[in-house]
Amino acid sequence: MGGNASGEIRVYCDCAGEAKHPIVKVLRGWFMNRDANIALSDKNRMRMVEDEKNIDLRVLTRAFGVEKNADGTIAAVKALDLRGNRVVRFVSPLFCDATGDGWVGYCAGADWRMGREERKSWNTYDHVGRFWIPYRSIYSRNVGNLFVVGRCFSCSHVGLGAPRVISTLSQLGVAAGEAAA
Ligand SMILES: Cc1cc2nc3c(=O)[nH]c(=O)nc-3n(C[C@H](O)[C@H](O)[C@H](O)COP(=O)(O)OP(=O)(O)OC[C@H]3O[C@@H](n4cnc5c(N)ncnc54)[C@H](O)[C@@H]3O)c2cc1C
Repeated sequence: MGGNASGEIRVYCDCAGEAKHPIVKVLRGWFMNRDANIALSDKNRMRMVEDEKNIDLRVLTRAFGVEKNADGTIAAVKALDLRGNRVVRFVSPLFCDATGDGWVGYCAGADWRMGREERKSWNTYDHVGRFWIPYRSIYSRNVGNLFVVGRCFSCSHVGLGAPRVISTLSQLGVAAGEAAA
């Protein structure tokens, strides 16, 4: 619906790995951004999401703040509806930050890190082969009801090298959804 994988930016998505969830398989089919019919793909993606009864899609709505509960969890996310020029509040028991830069987590005071670290910080070394993304890297350690997925999930600079692609990051959203359910 937006971001790097949108038809507007046209970052190409393909990989040999298996999509673990049907929605990722379907979306992947419409992320082939080299297609000349890119506008049609955008429409198809939009239609698919709008048809999903468990999704209430709000485009052009920018999160800018949160309200917190006494225990430090998030009570509501505040956002600006740019078309209606009004502030909207999203209230939920669980929240998921997929803003790429972690804005909701930042507003909520979630612990974060950014930038490169020394090799010795995490004992990283060159390794080729399969890798796993642990569940603990997609939720905040100090904001109890916050998932953080996509390219702002928790990892080191070196650790981000392999998973920072569209198909893999899509799976993090699926994992958070399954965990929330
Ligand atoms: C130049 C370039 C080339 C790349 N090439 C490839 C490639 O060939 N293949 C590949 O698989 N990957 C590629 N990548 C990486 C891949 O595109 C990204 O890692 C991936 O798309 C990140 O997805 P995301 O959903 O986590 O974040 P994003 O795509 O950044 O999406 C974040 C979304 O959140 C929205 N947002 C931000 N702030 C707010 C807010 N406050 N309130 C509401 N919404 C907000 C943004 O508008 C955006 O829609 C490339 C990246 C770049 C930059």
